[in-house]
Amino acid sequence: MSSYRCPVCDYVYDESVGAPHEGFPAGTSWDSIPDDWCCPDCGVREKVDFEPNLTGSTK
Ligand SMILES: [Zn+2]
Repeated sequence: MSSYRCPVCDYVYDESVGAPHEGFPAGTSWDSIPDDWCCPDCGVREKVDFEPNLTGSTK
């Protein structure tokens, strides 16, 4: 599982956690997230702007 971080607000999307409030249950892979999905925290960055979170909980 990987996680991805918003460069603006540091919101992290973790594949093992998902984003239940956004309609993505735990285990939803990053590839399954639509390209036009916006960061739920700041709303100003889209999926393509997220960066791989290499220092996070990547197992
Ligand atoms: Zn954000």
